[in-house]
Amino acid sequence: MFCNQCEQTAKGIGCNIAGVCGKNEEVADLQDLLIHALQGLALFAQEGRKLGIVDEAVDLFTYEAIFSTLTNVDFDPERFVVLIKRTVELREVMKAKVAAAGGKTNFTEAPATLIPAGSVAELAAQGKGVVMISSEMPELLGMCDRIYVMGEGKIVGEMLAKEASQEKIMKCIMSQEEVVA
Ligand code: SF4
Repeated sequence: MFCNQCEQTAKGIGCNIAGVCGKNEEVADLQDLLIHALQGLALFAQEGRKLGIVDEAVDLFTYEAIFSTLTNVDFDPERFVVLIKRTVELREVMKAKVAAAGGKTNFTEAPATLIPAGSVAELAAQGKGVVMISSEMPELLGMCDRIYVMGEGKIVGEMLAKEASQEKIMKCIMSQEEVVA
C-alpha cells in the first residue's frame, strides 16, 4: 500500500502499511485505478474539446470521481468499482464522439486502453503500481511517477518525478542521508 493523499499521511511521507485514516490497501489500490482510468477519459475529453465537443455530464462525473479519492470518510470498495467502470464507459462514449468528428482516437497510453477486471480483488490488483529499478536517470525521469534514490542499501532520497531532476537525484546520492525508515 502507498497513499499520500492527505495531511494525515504517516511520517509526512505516505501510509504504507494501513491508512492513518482507516483506509485499507484494497481501497487505496482501487482509488489509484480510478485516477488511472480518469486519465484515459481525460485524454478523449481533451481531444473532444479541440473539436468543440463538450459533454457536461462527463465533466461533472470527472469532478465527482476525483473528489471520491480525496475524501477519507467513505471506504466502500464497491463504490470505487462502480466509478471505475462508469469512467471506462464514459471514455468509450467520448471516444466514439471524437471518432465521429474525425479526431484522434488512437491513443496507446495505458489509461486509454484500460479494460477493468471483473472482481473487486482483480480490480485492486490492476491498481497496484509497478516498481522499476534503473540507474538510467532519463529513463527514470521519463517513466516514473515517484522516485526513490538508493545508496549503500538505504533510501537516500524520495521525490515526485515531476519535481525531480538529475541534479536533485545526484545530490541525494552524494549526501547518503537516509530519508525513509
Ligand atoms: S488518505 Fe488515509 S491512507 Fe491516504 S495519506 Fe491520508 S491518512 Fe494516509
